[in-house]
Amino acid sequence: MTTQTEIGKTLLPEVQAFLSKKVHGAVIGGQEVTASNGDTFDTRDPGTGEKLATVSNMQPDDVERAVAAAQKAFDETDWARLPVNERGVHLMRLADAVEQRKSIIAQIEALDSGKIEAQAADDVQNFIDTIRYFCGLAQGLSLDTAIPVAGHEASVVRHAWGPCGFIVPWNFPFLLCGWGIGPAMAAGNTCVVKPAEDTPLSALYMAHLAKEIGIPDGVINVIPGVGEVTGAALSQNPNLCRMSFTGSPEVGRLVARECGQNLIPVKLELGGKGAAVIFDDVDIPEAADKLAQAITFHAGQVCCDATRWLVQKTIYDDFVNAAVDRLKAVQIGHPLGDGTQMGPVVSEVQYKRVLGYLEKGTAAGAETVLEGGAVQVEGCAGGHYVKPALLAGSLDNVAAREEIFGPVAYLASFNDESEGIRLANNTDYGLANSVWSSDLARCKRVASQFETGNGWINSHNVVVHGVPYAGVKKSGMGGGVGSLETLLDYYRNISVIRPL
Ligand code: NAD
Repeated sequence: MTTQTEIGKTLLPEVQAFLSKKVHGAVIGGQEVTASNGDTFDTRDPGTGEKLATVSNMQPDDVERAVAAAQKAFDETDWARLPVNERGVHLMRLADAVEQRKSIIAQIEALDSGKIEAQAADDVQNFIDTIRYFCGLAQGLSLDTAIPVAGHEASVVRHAWGPCGFIVPWNFPFLLCGWGIGPAMAAGNTCVVKPAEDTPLSALYMAHLAKEIGIPDGVINVIPGVGEVTGAALSQNPNLCRMSFTGSPEVGRLVARECGQNLIPVKLELGGKGAAVIFDDVDIPEAADKLAQAITFHAGQVCCDATRWLVQKTIYDDFVNAAVDRLKAVQIGHPLGDGTQMGPVVSEVQYKRVLGYLEKGTAAGAETVLEGGAVQVEGCAGGHYVKPALLAGSLDNVAAREEIFGPVAYLASFNDESEGIRLANNTDYGLANSVWSSDLARCKRVASQFETGNGWINSHNVVVHGVPYAGVKKSGMGGGVGSLETLLDYYRNISVIRPL
């Protein structure tokens, strides 16, 4: 049993108890079940490389059972038919229960994903806020809305769809689980969640909690497993009503193809290669500080991060010097360590990917402005730690074009506003860019011209409930999450009409 990390921090007793389970099974129809063939995989603490837990690798027949359990809950419990305020009571209870266990879930999340404990706690709070936000939004939504048209009596009537699938990545496991199930459940749907194999634990903990507080069995099913088995089986299941996938464009394409075969509507939230366009009237130390924070936030494993820093030529050297100083000061350590500002990347695979891009980028001619690369953290020999890096040069470089998903930013300069916008938009991705200037009219003008789902001003990674968050181009399709747009997706509409 894991009671203490290698860094010497004693875990919360509830976390110890949770991690001491021999095998973490799926939660299907309110029951904990192991895989039909007994297969398992291990999940590890990225900060030490130590095994955290053994988890069931759910097989295609298990996935079928999970979707059937979600259908049964939809058909046979009151869940979908409850008045929206009564369903809201369940959701508020779930949010409250998660809030009461915030420190436990945050510690589990920090250990499983490698994000620092305070950021994991923010993610748990975001889950709580998401559930409460959609619960409130659903209360105010008319389920039978008259449409005033000449010569007809018409209305649109909204129903929940049924079982909905969610495939979630490892970078924001708990937060993204909330973004998925929050609107779906508020509308009365039932859920089957496939967490990433690197980070299955927080969703499993939540599924047990949901049972404990009386959410009907089968409303939330969580099926851990590896992507090619469990994820593939879920995306191929013809009995889902909707699918939401968050992850890489490569897997997003596979999932969309499978859902397309079954004509199941799919929402894709994919990767990014965001730009920060920095004009010469900024407060240089402040902008450098905020962008250094952005690129080191969760070790740069953030889809909407600013990974291309486009700096107006007149301040390029001053800005770069300020950013280098700031990044050199970042304290790298174990996610549970006191004073840690940046933790490890999630896995050995991700560690090799980041180091590989640094090598490929420099081999293709990028200048190393700040040398990153592997770093050891005392007492954490098996951890996957990398230092922040800055590269510079041609924006055709592989490190400037492809998503690295580590604490690496690529620098280039521009002369004027139109060039800044053009360079920012010259990418296959379209998730989020930011503009930095003390001229707010210019900021609004530039942000509005980004070919992205999100344009941020004098800040980066600005995600707020109520404002649609979505990607265009290779970054996704299917509308903005965290907003009314997503809630509406989880209703099936019927237009009812009578000629007068
Ligand atoms: P990934 O695509 O490898 O995996 C995502 C999920 O898909 C995991 O649960 C995985 O098990 C599953 N999966 C893998 N193969 C599958 C298959 N063949 N069929 C079905 N499911 C399969 O992505 P990742 O490495 O976990 O996450 C990082 C990526 O996610 C990055 O590209 C990042 O930008 C993106 N992301 C996007 C957003 C957003 O909101 N746009 C948010 C977070 C992460």
